[in-house]
Amino acid sequence: MNADTPVNADTPATPDAPPAESFDGLGLPPALLTAMAGLGVEKPFPIQAAALPHALAGRDILGRARTGSGKTLAFGLALLTRTAGRRARPKAPLALVLVPTRELAQQVTDALEPYARALDLRLATAVGGLSINRQTAQLRAGAEVLVATPGRLTDLVSRRDCDLGQVRITVLDEADQMCDLGFLPQVSQLLAQVRPDGQRLLFSATLDRDVDRLVREHLHDPLPVSVDRAAGAVTTMEHHVLNVHGADKFATATEIAARDGRVLMFLDTKAAVDRFTRQLRAGGIRAAALHSGKSQPQRTHTLAQFQEGATNVLVATNVAARGIHIEALDLVVNVDPPADAKEYLHRAGRTARAGESGKVVTLVTAGERREVNRMLSEARIRPTVTQVRSGEAQLTAITGARRPPSGTRPAEGNAAFRGIGTRPGRPAKESRKAAEARKAAEARAAARVRRGR
Ligand code: AMP
Repeated sequence: MNADTPVNADTPATPDAPPAESFDGLGLPPALLTAMAGLGVEKPFPIQAAALPHALAGRDILGRARTGSGKTLAFGLALLTRTAGRRARPKAPLALVLVPTRELAQQVTDALEPYARALDLRLATAVGGLSINRQTAQLRAGAEVLVATPGRLTDLVSRRDCDLGQVRITVLDEADQMCDLGFLPQVSQLLAQVRPDGQRLLFSATLDRDVDRLVREHLHDPLPVSVDRAAGAVTTMEHHVLNVHGADKFATATEIAARDGRVLMFLDTKAAVDRFTRQLRAGGIRAAALHSGKSQPQRTHTLAQFQEGATNVLVATNVAARGIHIEALDLVVNVDPPADAKEYLHRAGRTARAGESGKVVTLVTAGERREVNRMLSEARIRPTVTQVRSGEAQLTAITGARRPPSGTRPAEGNAAFRGIGTRPGRPAKESRKAAEARKAAEARAAARVRRGR
């Protein structure tokens, strides 16, 4: 069979196919099943059970699922199976996975690589921030499957280094984030270039206006597949709001960072991320910063170090942390509250993945309380709310917090934390007691600085 065979001609669509209870009997190639078993993938997750029979039959899918549900293999196994046995011409991939970020591109590539190899399919990755020449060479050599971010792929197409005319299966992964990042026009233009009779699989945690537009314009009679937490692989996620005094927020966040296990902490801005990371490191905590101001090799290195346990604390902004997959992460902390419900759900989605449990903790100062409550009710989350102070047993019980290893607070104290918890235009209202506590903390910090510590 060659690349020009009509896309849906080989496998009849079976719209009534029931969810698959096992991977057997779906028509997956034996080499693929062997590779899966070797990696412990033996029973389908709910999203896979629901989507695979239809995706393998060639139907468009509209998947509402977040990272951690097993969606990569839900689309990946279908895409690889339906591409197996074909050979791509130079620069003309047969299957395309579009993702919003470089990190996610790397993760999808890593997740699919062993299965692609088992099926003798060549995988290429095209993302910004890395040498375009290497990517061009990969495409010129021929790659059946291309994983790409919209920006870099648009560049490659305009340079005539990539032709999408043979793409018969297109996956849009984390479509809502691609739209949030402003990629909608590029994604639409790229989709207009793939084979019109091709299959499209769209996955998104939320289906809002822009995503809806993509669906209406580019999907054909898609099968909606939704896996919510009740039915899905994400089993237990606890949500906590910790009410903190503005003056005590830095100490609280630092003690959480000093916990035994790993933690992913979100802050608003790159500058705040860098500053907090510096402070943690000065306090003897193995922390690293992840944001879009870092070069791609730096970001890859930081993620790898966190995955391997060389660092314990990953301090990140929203954008850099989108879609990243971190194994066995049981705590996510919103040091700064997310801007909206969607962002909250994305951040929360970094924990309690693939059936594991996890906690999402949001530190909230008095001035942020109303907005955070509104956001959580929009996200339909009923958190456990606790008033905490640094050094308290309750903080430890919820987060595993403890004193930083050096036994001292980072040199600049709470003063260094200014701007992290308080967004411009939304100054936190400070109670008299909190103001006194803050002044005392600042005086102690100033004294420490004077003493040269
Ligand atoms: P994803 O949501 O695609 O990022 O997948 C989350 C995690 O679940 C990844 O580590 C996958 O390797 C793992 N996973 C996905 N499907 C299965 C399965 N059927 N059995 C075991 N592990 C799986």
